[in-house]
Amino acid sequence: MIEFIHVFKRYPGGFDALRDINLRIEAGEMAFITGHSGAGKSTLLRLITAIERPTRGEAAVNSKNLTKLPRRRIPWFRREIGVVFQDHKLLFDRTVYDNVALPLIVTGTDDKEIPKRVRAALEMVGLLDKERMLPVTLSGGEQQRVGIARAVVNKPPLLLADEPTGNLDSTLSDEILDLFLDFHHHGVTVLIATHDLHLIDRARRRVIELNHGELARDTGAKT
Ligand code: ADP
Ligand code: ADP
Repeated sequence: MIEFIHVFKRYPGGFDALRDINLRIEAGEMAFITGHSGAGKSTLLRLITAIERPTRGEAAVNSKNLTKLPRRRIPWFRREIGVVFQDHKLLFDRTVYDNVALPLIVTGTDDKEIPKRVRAALEMVGLLDKERMLPVTLSGGEQQRVGIARAVVNKPPLLLADEPTGNLDSTLSDEILDLFLDFHHHGVTVLIATHDLHLIDRARRRVIELNHGELARDTGAKT
C-alpha cells in the first residue's frame, strides 16, 4: 500500500528532512512512526498525502507513483486517505454533524446517503448523541473523536494520524488508540506518527523510528 525506495526529501534551503528511506507497508498493517522532534515524521506523512514530493527516489501509495502523480489527480488520490491531526482542524462555527459531513459534501456524495454515513461514523467514535453540538462545547478527547469520524466518513483504506494524542491525558489517549485498533481490525491500514512511547508500548505494533531524517529502526522490515 505504501512503498518508498531510496527516498530523499530536501526542503528549499537545502535541508534534508528525509534521507534514503526504504519502507514497505502492506495493506491491512498498522504501524507507528516515531522519533525526536524534527526527525522527519510529518515530512513522511506529507509525502504520503502528496503535499510534498520526494526530491529523489521512488514512492508509491495506493499504487500511485508519487513522483509522477499529476497535480490535477491529487484531490482524487487524497480521497483514499483519511487524516487525523493533533489540533483536530475542526470548523468551530459548524456542528459536529456538519464537520463530519464535510468530506462527503466535498466529494459529491448523494444527499440521501449523507445522514446515514455521518451517523455511522459518529456511532463508531461514540458521539451519536452530540451531533447537534458545536465543537467548542466538547472536551479535547471528544473533539479528537470528531476529527477521527471526519477522517473515516469516506471509508478510506488508509488512515494517517499526526500526533493524534498530543494534547490528551493517558486515559483519553488509550481510548483514542482503541479506536485506531478498531479500524485496523476492520481492515483499514493505519499509520500513526507519535512520540508517545506509552501509546506505542500499549499497541504492540510495528514501529518505524526516524532519527535526523534517517530510518533508525523498523520492527516490521522484511529484508
Ligand atoms: P517531525 O514531524 O518529526 O517533528 P518534520 O518532518 O516536521 O519532523 O521536520 C523535519 C525537519 O525538516 C525539521 O528540521 C524541520 O525544521 C524541517 N522542515 C519541515 N518542514 C520544512 C519546510 N517546509 N521547509 C524547510 N524545512 C522544513
Ligand atoms: P505539521 O504537523 O508539520 O505542522 P500539518 O499540521 O500541516 O503539518 O499537517 C500534518 C500532516 O497532515 C501532514 O504531514 C500531512 O500528511 C497531513 N495533511 C495536512 N494537510 C493535508 C491535506 N490538505 N490533505 C491531506 N493531508 C494533509
